Amino acid sequence: MSCADCIAHSGGLLRLYEKMQMGQETPLPLCGSFELTLRCNVRCKHCYILYPGATDNEMSTEEAKAVLKKLADGGVIFLLMTGGEVLARPDFKELYLYAKRELGMILTIFTNATLVDEDMVDFWKKYPPRKIEVTIYGHTEETYENVTGVKGSFKRFRNGCQLMLDAGLPLALKTIAIKSNVHEFKDIRQWVLEQGATFRYDIDVHPKIDHNTDPLEERLSPQEYVEVELIDLEANLGQYNTYVTNAYNHSSGDNLFVCGSGVRTCHVDPQGRLHPCMIWRENPYDLRNQVLDDDWRDHRTAIRSKKTEAVGCNTCSNRGVCGRCPAQSLLEMGDPTLPIPYHCETSQERRKLMGEPAGLSIEIV
Ligand code: SF4
Ligand code: SF4
Repeated sequence: MSCADCIAHSGGLLRLYEKMQMGQETPLPLCGSFELTLRCNVRCKHCYILYPGATDNEMSTEEAKAVLKKLADGGVIFLLMTGGEVLARPDFKELYLYAKRELGMILTIFTNATLVDEDMVDFWKKYPPRKIEVTIYGHTEETYENVTGVKGSFKRFRNGCQLMLDAGLPLALKTIAIKSNVHEFKDIRQWVLEQGATFRYDIDVHPKIDHNTDPLEERLSPQEYVEVELIDLEANLGQYNTYVTNAYNHSSGDNLFVCGSGVRTCHVDPQGRLHPCMIWRENPYDLRNQVLDDDWRDHRTAIRSKKTEAVGCNTCSNRGVCGRCPAQSLLEMGDPTLPIPYHCETSQERRKLMGEPAGLSIEIV
């Protein structure tokens, strides 16, 4: 998943966060994400933000700047700018420079790279972000454009990546493994490594923000899901052993949230609504008209005060190896406390693969 909390983990920010917040009674959300727009120039099959009304009532430049200032005043230092496609906003450079130079934020950008040209690359060379992440939807033109639904998008994506690679920008390449492209997963991974870029992948596909379940048609089967994990783990056995040990040592308990949603992180949508994270959109907090202060902390505490049910995930022996989270349950099951059957099956498959930590042995195929 690409939620800001997962990114904080994978970006090595978690330890920094813990050090900075040591002894603080009310921790600040140091890592935030901001969807500048939900407009996009491609139409991916698995996309969760393409829904009716998604692009209505978008903030103006001045409103977006005011919200950025409130995020900075509220403690956000690391900011992910995402979309939609961020470069579909004509005022992208103005917002970027405001966040970077006026507010001193450390920026990560998510883009599909299809709108990246020489001018954009020169801009980023002059004002570099911490990282630019690009998602790869396929290794061949046919597969890529079958996912994006837009003719010519593959060439534009490859051209944008090449410009950024040639300029030495801090590029990270990733993919989302789905039904339509999983047959090219190994090729995508190999191509990224050949470019000398870092590689990561997502597999989790969930319903759209309005609960429409069309994206689930692109979801891998539980078996395919674990097979993809295995491909990447071939090169990361040390990491795998740590993962297994942590998973088996996972303590259960009845806290619904085990991530930093709303505590370490927060998320703003293009309408200026503040959420604990990208996926949880219930009970938004109006950041256009309020500030990020104690009221927000009370708001998110109320959201996080829910407990797991006495049965289900709470008593599940696979909980430590399960990728379900309350935000996903809310979208898919309509209730954040409920297990997701797909994740139950995937956890069973993963556990079969992992074995027990003492006699850990996996076979790479
Ligand atoms: S609730 Fe889920 S989507 Fe939100 S930050 Fe936690 S793990 Fe990520
Ligand atoms: S979703 Fe299923 S496998 Fe995952 S913790 Fe809940 S009951 Fe266990």
